[in-house]
Amino acid sequence: MARFTMLDGATTIGGTKLLFEAGASPESARLLFDFGLNYATMGTYFEEFLTPRTSAGLTDYLTTGLLPKLGFYRSDLTTLLQKMQPELAAQLTDPGHVDACFITHAHVDHTGSISFLDETIPLYATPVTAAVLRAIQETQFSTGPENGVTKFILRPNLGANQKGRRDLVDLDFPMKPPDSQTTAFPVGPSVPVEFPGCCQVTAYPVDHSVPGACAYLIEYDGGKLVYTGDLRFHGRMGRVTADTIARLAALHPDALLIEGTNLRGDDAFAAREPAFHRSSQFWSEQEVEGEALKEVHRAHGLVIADFGMKDLDRLMTFQSVAKKTGRKLAILPRDAYIVRLAQEAGYQDGCPEESKINLQDPGVVLYIKRGGSGTYDTEDIEKDWARSTILRFAGWAPDSFDVAGKREKVGQLLDGSCPRVVRAAEVTAHQSDYLLSLGYWDIQELCDLHPSEGSLYIHSSAEAFSEEMSWDQKRLAEWLSLTGMDSVHIHASGHARPEDLFRIVEQLAPRRVYPIHTEHPEQYAEKFKDIVSLLRYGQTVLLDQ
Ligand SMILES: [Zn+2]
Ligand SMILES: [Zn+2]
Repeated sequence: MARFTMLDGATTIGGTKLLFEAGASPESARLLFDFGLNYATMGTYFEEFLTPRTSAGLTDYLTTGLLPKLGFYRSDLTTLLQKMQPELAAQLTDPGHVDACFITHAHVDHTGSISFLDETIPLYATPVTAAVLRAIQETQFSTGPENGVTKFILRPNLGANQKGRRDLVDLDFPMKPPDSQTTAFPVGPSVPVEFPGCCQVTAYPVDHSVPGACAYLIEYDGGKLVYTGDLRFHGRMGRVTADTIARLAALHPDALLIEGTNLRGDDAFAAREPAFHRSSQFWSEQEVEGEALKEVHRAHGLVIADFGMKDLDRLMTFQSVAKKTGRKLAILPRDAYIVRLAQEAGYQDGCPEESKINLQDPGVVLYIKRGGSGTYDTEDIEKDWARSTILRFAGWAPDSFDVAGKREKVGQLLDGSCPRVVRAAEVTAHQSDYLLSLGYWDIQELCDLHPSEGSLYIHSSAEAFSEEMSWDQKRLAEWLSLTGMDSVHIHASGHARPEDLFRIVEQLAPRRVYPIHTEHPEQYAEKFKDIVSLLRYGQTVLLDQ
């Protein structure tokens, strides 16, 4: 009989780790869906300077419950564990052979523990999710075992992965030919991935605050299970979600694993966002744009917009706001690189030109931070992706240079003479000309930027209780007060409204509902009574036929 085990993430926002088994026999397919980092558990035991020890491999993760005690981890870390802590190693139960891990989207609470998994387990993701994960991995500074999703740093078969990319398999989506009238990305479900004699898995695109997100349909002997991943209806691509739910409803799924991020207790909205002078929460990207436009019109100094680096919908919103207010949008090379890889993988294919992120637009410029030398030295830009990104913004084709040529050319572009590659000095000298996209982790740039009177900080990312949130609002408030910046919080959630979540249940009409990715699963039970089962950490559920 098919069954699933909620290894983690049943009653927390994220940390999702779902194990599906098509049957009880050793030959049955065993599939993981997401293998994320649980921020709640992380925050319980760790903080900024108190982190799991990279050198101790699995030890700290297994001991604190950040990883489940199952025997499906990387061979190098498993060997280390057996050598150093045989008793802990002996506690790992054998789950049997795991055939694949399917990723719903590129948020850390769904992917942040994947690098610990056995290197022989293939990963599946939509092409855009795979592209975003690759861009993030290439551009991050930290290279511990916890950070390798696509290349599996320290894995014995690293070379093979780099060449063949065997570990991260792009799901195959039939794409509609681009049509200027409609949004074509991606149309309908993926080609199913088959596990002969056991089950098949199909990805269905959904809209979320990161491009490339999907839900999964698992068809097993005698039943159909839907896992929603994270989704919403009110983003720019909201109708992709609506279309997916309609298609899934027509298939009459038996069981539904559904997210519930926005189900909250009564007091959830009471003490929020103390760091900002004003706060507006909307249920559409258009309203976010409208409010941001009003705020930026009023500001007469520098405007800084802080939003999730993977939230390309929001980047598009601020590109539009910058254009309409006569400002240049300045972004970091890393952000430009994520956009480029996502677009190459099909993100925004078929969208009308005017509603695409356009990195060729002279109104979009690169903001270069000071490097390791403390200046803007070409040696500070070490990585090829960064050099190539700078060259592209200056209108050069990176491929027309060899390594030494690239280095030399980049050096020439870091002196402030190229209008599309700017430094703090250029922004400071013309503050009202720029809308600068910078996150909390770049807040020290304010020491170089010296915001003038009338400058504004727009916080436009995840809510304080949400998944991608790990910063300290009080500290941010101190920075804003130190620099005298006005501040506002403008946001639309990456997750569906409670009424939209309930409508999904009504439309799909499954026999069983299992809430996950929520702190208030009981709200589903109050609404839908007996068909809802509340899951505990590590609980196994038999899927009746
Ligand atoms: Zn999530
Ligand atoms: Zn998410």
